[in-house]
Amino acid sequence: MNIDNIYIQDISQICDNKLNINILRGDVLDPVVSGNKWFKLQFYVRDAIAAGKTTLATFGGPYSNHIIATAKYGAAMGLNTVGFIRGEKPTTLSPTLHDALQNGMTLHFISREDFEQTEKISADNQDSNWAWIPEGGYGVTGAEGAKTMLTIKDTSSYDTIICAVGTGTMMAGLIKAAAPHQKIIGLSVLKNNISIDAEIKALLTKEEANKSFEINHDYHFGGYAKHTPALIDFMNDCYTQMELPLDFVYTAKLMYGVRDLASKGKFEPSSKILVIHSGGLQGNRSFKKGTLRF
Ligand SMILES: *Cc1c(COP(=O)(O)O)cnc(C)c1O
Repeated sequence: MNIDNIYIQDISQICDNKLNINILRGDVLDPVVSGNKWFKLQFYVRDAIAAGKTTLATFGGPYSNHIIATAKYGAAMGLNTVGFIRGEKPTTLSPTLHDALQNGMTLHFISREDFEQTEKISADNQDSNWAWIPEGGYGVTGAEGAKTMLTIKDTSSYDTIICAVGTGTMMAGLIKAAAPHQKIIGLSVLKNNISIDAEIKALLTKEEANKSFEINHDYHFGGYAKHTPALIDFMNDCYTQMELPLDFVYTAKLMYGVRDLASKGKFEPSSKILVIHSGGLQGNRSFKKGTLRF
């Protein structure tokens, strides 16, 4: 995990060079802990160590970027990790869970029903040595971590910053980091996630909530982790034409949306746009071999 690996790539060709579009390649942070999950975790981990905790405990699905990031980051910091995983234990573990185990994480499988109540899971598993991290790293601590994504490189010249939105924690962090001339646009990857606006605002101060931002709900492709042949083709094209690998859950929908919005005249010709590559590439391992060109 080396933030010096992160760089900014010009991808203006995605809109036939009619606009100035760059992408912050957060995915190259680490092949496994790629992108925003490390940023969101960093202050949870710092606080856990400062409080003398020995173990990080958290929640996630079988392909969760957050689970594998917690496992690998925790191991790197000398902490034990415990993952409460949504659904019954499968006969074959997903590559994500396999990697989590390899990094020393203890896995507990929780029925989908019981998983609905993560507070109950943490209440039933109290241990004074454990630091609990909310699912997806959602919380002010996670947002403060994501805020630092905009300071790895000089991002002051951009007026429009666009990211994918799951829990909204990263977007809240980008809003916190935004300068007065910058607008943050989030593309939601969940269907009809109308509560997301309130969930993001809950992580912001009053002043921050008055900054310029908007959430777009048009590019979920049917819902979380749903995909279409057109989206897969788009991912392969982005890789072939720009050496830009995308994940199907978040960043492919984000880039597809950016290109579509650009073609519809959403952005001023003079604008300088920065797209956030938030990583997540390990999740592509749920595809059959050969589906993707990368
Ligand atoms: C988790 C994740 C997101 C969404 O981040 P939130 O802070 O939950 O909104 C976006 N992109 C990738 C690759 C992710 O893994």
